[in-house]
Amino acid sequence: MAAIYDKVAFLGLGLIASSMARAMREAGLAGWMGGHARTEKTRKTALELGLVDAVFSTAAEAVKDADLVVFCVPVGAMEQLAREVAPHLKAGATISDVGSVKGAVIRAIGPHLPKDVHFVPAHPLAGTEHSGPEAGFASLFQNRWCLMTPLPDTDEAAIRRLGMLWEKMGAKVDRMEAGHHDLVLAVTSHAPHLIAYTMVGVADDLKRVTESEVINYSAAGFRDFTRIAASDPTMWRDVFLNNREATLEILGRFTEELFDLQRAIRRGDGQQLFDYFTRTRAIRRGIIEAGQDTGAPDFGRVDID
Ligand code: NAP
Repeated sequence: MAAIYDKVAFLGLGLIASSMARAMREAGLAGWMGGHARTEKTRKTALELGLVDAVFSTAAEAVKDADLVVFCVPVGAMEQLAREVAPHLKAGATISDVGSVKGAVIRAIGPHLPKDVHFVPAHPLAGTEHSGPEAGFASLFQNRWCLMTPLPDTDEAAIRRLGMLWEKMGAKVDRMEAGHHDLVLAVTSHAPHLIAYTMVGVADDLKRVTESEVINYSAAGFRDFTRIAASDPTMWRDVFLNNREATLEILGRFTEELFDLQRAIRRGDGQQLFDYFTRTRAIRRGIIEAGQDTGAPDFGRVDID
């Protein structure tokens, strides 16, 4: 397959960048790939794994002559990197990112970019609770959505080209306004993660339940929570700090519904519980029908974002 971009630079060489590099290598989508990460250890690992052709100790060197630059660092690290690389970007290059929040990323990167590059923010809805260059795999994006949130005046050809790259990596591509993306993700990903973190924290706090009991007798629901709650602390700290309003809005609604269910349990209102659970079961069925999960009784699925 012909390369879609001649030279690609990854800023950050963790789970997402390494999965992209593997998928792009497998499908021949880039002529050359380079990368920058903060630590020598990560850069060395990325090189040893053959993820990229070259690594650089500064982001400025990594982006030199690149036709595509992808920010693959935690959301909170993007602004500083954007400042650093801005004077070194090639005219006509496409600048993208994979951040889990879009409004804040656009505000962090956008103002620093020169006028002669194309900024196309994107978010692949694919990931695992593991991080680092070793954690990536080429099929991570297969049949997963990649949401692009271009600004209204972005060059259409640049958007399509990036969309094609994601499609060739196996993803389904859609476009969305950044603020809407952040609200949707607050419902589907950010609030659920916070709830999982809380539930695991509660179990940890319950001194009556010993650690071994929690581990030995953990039912599927709790096991799933522990997997989600094992996600990278830096990444998730940055998601909540940068999608504050949408997350708080959804958590407010969540708290109201939780109180409602709490009251139904206290009153012994079985009908309310039954009706509620019937409604939620239909949502689950919809997710399976949309191909976003399998109906298999398997709680060990690998990807959640
Ligand atoms: P990761 O595996 O933890 O990797 C992060 C990478 O960023 C590491 O290579 C790290 O380098 C580098 N980095 C961190 N701070 C840096 C800095 N100041 N300067 C240069 N490099 C820096 O993270 P990830 O899971 O790939 O996530 C990357 C992005 O993708 C995040 O914005 C996240 O929101 C988004 N995302 C994640 C998922 C998911 O499920 N994981 C899914 C979709 C989108 P060192 O190793 O040298 O510290």
